[in-house]
Amino acid sequence: MKKILIIEDEAELAKVLRSYLENAGFEVLTSYQGDTGLETWHSSQPDLVILDLNLPGMDGLDVARAIRREKDTPIIMVTARVEETDRLIGLELGADDYVTKPYSPREVVARVRTVLRRAGGQSERKPEIIRAGDLEINLEAHTVQSGSQYFDLTPTEFNLLATLAGSPGRVYSRLQLLEETQEGSAFEGYERTIDAHIKNLRSKIEADPKSPRYILTVFGLGYKFDKG
Ligand code: CA
Repeated sequence: MKKILIIEDEAELAKVLRSYLENAGFEVLTSYQGDTGLETWHSSQPDLVILDLNLPGMDGLDVARAIRREKDTPIIMVTARVEETDRLIGLELGADDYVTKPYSPREVVARVRTVLRRAGGQSERKPEIIRAGDLEINLEAHTVQSGSQYFDLTPTEFNLLATLAGSPGRVYSRLQLLEETQEGSAFEGYERTIDAHIKNLRSKIEADPKSPRYILTVFGLGYKFDKG
């Protein structure tokens, strides 16, 4: 069941919208203030937020920004006047949709469905190719190439590279890399085996394995990928 969070200070409006959404099969949470709404968003991780623009506690725009800093939770903004809609577009807030009061709850339910469908499609469409410098990592085909040259990687080496390159700049400990590359199964090796895999990987994809450009060691912590 998809979870919807309504952040709306007009209690009667929130109540009506809630019952429409519940009848449509959604689980609904309600907050009447911006700041408590953001707390509820944190603790409940809803699938979509219906966010009023003018709120006590914390302005709707600030709530939206705070959410966006952390996640792509779809947001439908609710505004009281048409001018506010213009303001929203001007701010390029990143709301997925907006409705203007007074609205028909039925229409909001339809918008919720549309936005959720769109968001679902997005999360399924992962990037298939990661490009960094001269490197091209194809996650579908499991190939790595630089120009026309293909590198022959073992599955473990490929998984290591895909994990690191999937979050450039993020530092992974050896233990995390073990878990990522062995898909949570019982460890077949010790953390130090990661070093051996990294060494092999570098000898294949790095022009100068002793002075790597892509796979960098973070001393005392682990490894990270640099986009070159
Ligand atoms: Ca309001």
